[in-house]
Amino acid sequence: MILLNPKNLDPRYPDQRSLEVMTSTVNFFETRGKKRLLEDAHARVWYDDFLNFVKDEKIFAALLTPPNYGGGDSRWDTFRNVAFNEILGFYGLPYWYTWQVTTLGLGPIWMSGNEEAKRRAAQLLAGGAVFAFGLSERQHGADIYSTEMTLTPQPDGSYMANGEKYYIGNGNVAPMISTFGKMADSGEYVFFAADSTNPHFELLGNVVDSQNYVATFALHDYPIGEAEILSKGREAWDSALNTVNICKFNLGAASIGISTHAFYEAINHAANRRLYDMYVTDFPHVKQIFTDAYARLVAMKLFTLRAADYMRVASPNDRRYLLYNSVVKMKVTTQGEEVVDLLWDVIAAKGFEKDMYFGSAAMEIRALPKLEGTVHVNIALILKFMANYFFNPAEYASIGQRSEPKHDDYLFRQGPTKGMGDIQFHDYNVAYSDWDLPNVNLFREQTAVFAEMLAAAPPDESQGRDTDFILTVGEIFTLVTYGQLILENARICDVPADIVDQIFDCFVRDFSKFALQLYSKPRCNPEQSVYCMKMIRRPVVDEERYGRVWRDHVYALKGAYEMNP
Ligand SMILES: Cc1cc2nc3c(=O)[nH]c(=O)nc-3n(C[C@H](O)[C@H](O)[C@H](O)COP(=O)(O)OP(=O)(O)OC[C@H]3O[C@@H](n4cnc5c(N)ncnc54)[C@H](O)[C@@H]3O)c2cc1C
Repeated sequence: MILLNPKNLDPRYPDQRSLEVMTSTVNFFETRGKKRLLEDAHARVWYDDFLNFVKDEKIFAALLTPPNYGGGDSRWDTFRNVAFNEILGFYGLPYWYTWQVTTLGLGPIWMSGNEEAKRRAAQLLAGGAVFAFGLSERQHGADIYSTEMTLTPQPDGSYMANGEKYYIGNGNVAPMISTFGKMADSGEYVFFAADSTNPHFELLGNVVDSQNYVATFALHDYPIGEAEILSKGREAWDSALNTVNICKFNLGAASIGISTHAFYEAINHAANRRLYDMYVTDFPHVKQIFTDAYARLVAMKLFTLRAADYMRVASPNDRRYLLYNSVVKMKVTTQGEEVVDLLWDVIAAKGFEKDMYFGSAAMEIRALPKLEGTVHVNIALILKFMANYFFNPAEYASIGQRSEPKHDDYLFRQGPTKGMGDIQFHDYNVAYSDWDLPNVNLFREQTAVFAEMLAAAPPDESQGRDTDFILTVGEIFTLVTYGQLILENARICDVPADIVDQIFDCFVRDFSKFALQLYSKPRCNPEQSVYCMKMIRRPVVDEERYGRVWRDHVYALKGAYEMNP
């Protein structure tokens, strides 16, 4: 089973407690049923019942507390957190979001040297609290250098916090909001914990119209002591970025959950709808749309799970995860948009109906590429790894699936956020040469032309400064990385060759699309244009393979899942 089916949960979780967490979460949603889920979504009801369930079952405490601060079964385990993210996304982004901002809020706390704050956070988590991450400000977006929240030192050694934050999830209820600011005197960065119940905390409102509370708040002469300081200077800066490094990974699995639920609704509808005396799924274009959507969805999942393996083996000597988690963030989430777009063309009017999950999915899938740094910000980051990825590989021991029940300690001591361009990767050719399939081979040829272009006609300085040009180069590089980890994981997970070739049928087309985009850029020079044209290829057509994928894997999902009414 590749795709999540909550009615037939994969029992291969690393331990009993993990299975209990997943099962009880699914039961919570299935017991309430679809009608209630959608009514609450449409009425923008704050999810007290979900938070009470989380509290009673100590779910966030188990999944997010390091073992030395929590109970016997608590740990931050990327493998099982992927599964949990996927389940929450499957039932609705608002439920996922309150969890997501809790993970973000906890990042600077677990990374801090402030033992008192950590013990307090663990206690609050055990008591069912949710947390918040106060990084963004209204005027500054991605430019966190311009942060205006300030801490002013007081004569008694304490501080006074003043300023506003914007877009802060859970800001209405969180007892510890990890708030990023600057020292008024030295200008050095600082992270401190603010409490939403403090009288100096003013909740200014919810900036969105949804079940979530995405707060804007102000601190007015809010007193801060050393007990509330989480980090200062370079450490505060690093913990902001390192927290985003960990938590942006969650976005991919949420996107997979949303797309999977949308897929079930679409196939159930289309396979049962008769038009012109035939089923909608008999139309050739509908078959093609579903097959593409399925192939892309399986690819999203294979990549995310493989990237989780690299997150879990990360160390000061192995920082490959910094490329892969950025690809999860920007590629998996944008592929989720593509999957839902494809499905929407088939489910058509039904997707607007109020008793369908699809309407929420179509809107919510858009959020994920934009949270925790936009797609552009992540491609800009990804580009830093490109030279070493193609031209300076290193030897690493091969790693298998990392599903063992273990706390991912390194994620909370990632160290300085520098030296991205020095990180080396294992040779991508190894994964590509492990599969001898027509479309994988074709994709390899496209990749070889791209690598040749980078060597013989690399982007010059002015092209490097032109983000419109260079981001397209980044899309092609991303696709190569994406394909590599998918192939690695397809082997680990025993994915049938038919599905792998179908995935690469999509990727050959994607490669061609990006090559054409690059060719069309005003700054693309004549030499690069020749390479671009060579990258444009037609996938290898194999009607039999396509027929088998449709019949055995895609159409086979008809009726496989329907949420309880
Ligand atoms: C529903 C919601 C919930 C959120 N929750 C939280 C939260 O809990 N805590 C929190 O701190 N923040 C939160 N955010 C903020 C979110 O992380 C930011 O919205 C996001 O980082 C993008 O910022 P922006 O939308 O202001 O875009 P901007 O930064 O204003 O970007 C504008 C444009 O410039 C581009 N751009 C900016 N910088 C670069 C760059 N370096 N390279 C290339 N292109 C660039 C962008 O891609 C975009 O196209 C939330 C936002 C939303 C919408």
